[in-house]
Amino acid sequence: MSSTPFWEEKSLDAMSDEEWESLCDGCGRCCLHKLVNDETHDVFYTRVACALLHPETGQCTRYHDRLSEVEDCLDVRRMNASELAWMPRSCAYRSLSEGKPLLEWHPLITGDPSTVIAAGITVAGKTISENSIDVDQLEAEIIEWVDT
Ligand code: SF4
Repeated sequence: MSSTPFWEEKSLDAMSDEEWESLCDGCGRCCLHKLVNDETHDVFYTRVACALLHPETGQCTRYHDRLSEVEDCLDVRRMNASELAWMPRSCAYRSLSEGKPLLEWHPLITGDPSTVIAAGITVAGKTISENSIDVDQLEAEIIEWVDT
């Protein structure tokens, strides 16, 4: 049996559902509203979260039904490489699609889910709900996140 971890051996497309899901560190960053510069295509993250994101845990409260409940929820498994570039640099799906390794705090490396919190990657406790602001004012909520 190979000692190479599956994420180094397989393409994203070749992974089982279980392997795919284990790559998600649960940071919650993909659940934040983003703004894209039309000219440069740069993506800016805001601290404004989908109403389904639990503000304290940073987890989706309707994970299994999210795609049917939220019209523009991202189905990451169906995203192509250019769409994955919208994801945060810390996201394992983006890293692997760009040929980069998992970061040293990733739970698959450390064996400990809490390292996502210790590394400052989770959005838990750092967001406001889309229901609490005027979404036309998103620019005022742009925020820089730690990426490593
Ligand atoms: S940004 Fe990536 S790692 Fe973080 S919750 Fe979304 S899919 Fe998972």
